[in-house]
Amino acid sequence: MRKSIYVAYTGGTIGMAKSSDGYKPVTGYLEQLMASMPEFKNSIMPRYEIHEYEPLIDSSNMSPKWWLHIARDIAANYAAFDGFVVLHGTDTMAYTASALPFMLQGLAKPVILTGSQIPLCELRSDARENLITAMLIAARFAIPEVCLFFGNRLLRGNRSVKVNAIGFNAFSSPNYPDLGTAGINIDIHWKNVLPAPEQKHDVQVKAITESRVAALRLFPGMAAQVVENILSDPIKGLVLETYGVGNGPSNNKDLIYVLEQAVKRGVVVINCSQCLQGIVDMDSYATGSALARAGVINGYDMTTEAALAKTFYLFSRNFDGEQVKRKISENLRGELTLPVTDSKFHTL
Ligand code: ASP
Repeated sequence: MRKSIYVAYTGGTIGMAKSSDGYKPVTGYLEQLMASMPEFKNSIMPRYEIHEYEPLIDSSNMSPKWWLHIARDIAANYAAFDGFVVLHGTDTMAYTASALPFMLQGLAKPVILTGSQIPLCELRSDARENLITAMLIAARFAIPEVCLFFGNRLLRGNRSVKVNAIGFNAFSSPNYPDLGTAGINIDIHWKNVLPAPEQKHDVQVKAITESRVAALRLFPGMAAQVVENILSDPIKGLVLETYGVGNGPSNNKDLIYVLEQAVKRGVVVINCSQCLQGIVDMDSYATGSALARAGVINGYDMTTEAALAKTFYLFSRNFDGEQVKRKISENLRGELTLPVTDSKFHTL
């Protein structure tokens, strides 16, 4: 039987039309364009239903409110479709792809985010390939994950980062192997894919409502007072982007003190590296252990996008600071790699 997929168009370059002010999303335009292209009627393609959001947004305007809208939309259509494609602007696609896995609990069908660097209406565009292949993957392969497909790579959503503002290979997954590759064939690397949930109930939406979380990139010369300001009320969680394997300025006693005091007040501070690749290990250097002593917790190899989404999510579930701290360092949705001695998989 021909598979059917649900396409949610949230906005972004892929479906934009040319205007006198530059490209902008226009209601109804993407659907019309797809209807006029014979490739989408090819018998190899799944049946699809497209749903345009109102308003269509540039993804720089995304927020947790929109994530919830997308998650609820998928849940409402979950039973009727084999897979889901979310068309999204590239600028914050990795953030949405990091948040949705936490929000869609019990997901057993593929949810694939994609977009493009050049709109579908242009002759020379990456939109056609990205869209067609994402639709084929969503229809053919029962991948029980939120993924991001772009420029022939299928990535785990919560491992993805935007690494190129102008190239067709705009996304990467620095700390986790690709879930699939689109070449002459579409190959899914099943060994990298999460196991399907044991109970295949309907997907349940867990809302993200908490947003008193921030990310801060360390740099040489950062003043303790600046960090103190960020860590003052109402903040609940901070993703600290540190150097190398999780190091910070241990000789800046004021800064370490500020971190320590915030942790004592219950702020959760998570150590993620500025380096795209590698895993935080706060025992390697004195500059790392000083952060650990201040109560900063290990974010292992999480991307900043994933660490932010996870912190939002955990606080939204009303866990207290201690519980959030414990769960941050657990592998909940394949978003982090733990050292082999603690590689148990948790569900939450
Ligand atoms: N600014 C656009 C957006 O993120 C860029 C894109 O779609 O590629 O919506």
